[in-house]
Amino acid sequence: MPAYILEKLCRGCQRCLRACPREAIKMVAHVAIVEPDQCVECEECMESCMHGAITFRGEDQAGKARQELKQRLMELQTELTDLRARWPAHSLKPSLIIQLEDLEEEIREIREKLANEGMSI
Ligand code: SF4
Ligand code: SF4
Repeated sequence: MPAYILEKLCRGCQRCLRACPREAIKMVAHVAIVEPDQCVECEECMESCMHGAITFRGEDQAGKARQELKQRLMELQTELTDLRARWPAHSLKPSLIIQLEDLEEEIREIREKLANEGMSI
């Protein structure tokens, strides 16, 4: 079973990327992603990761991580809709504009992670 990155634990340090002898790891939105077809299960990446973000325990863990991402995406979308409803564009204060931009950025990153795993939302 190929390595799998638990996105919520990944800090984007790229140690695993440098450790992988097969160049099977790439960075997407500051999070490591494994190309399963390239992985030879040598476990070098897991040993290099200081944050416990790499697992070989398979789809249970992977599925759980994806569910957490989807849940977070739904929460963010609800928050964004509420903010937009309460504050029409013409009345936005600078602090709210930053909050909106942060929400939109996080939503974009989660969508990218899910899309990278072949899941569209
Ligand atoms: S070594 Fe761990 S924390 Fe660093 S990029 Fe790889 S998976 Fe993420
Ligand atoms: S198990 Fe080995 S080949 Fe697979 S991603 Fe990790 S370092 Fe690369």
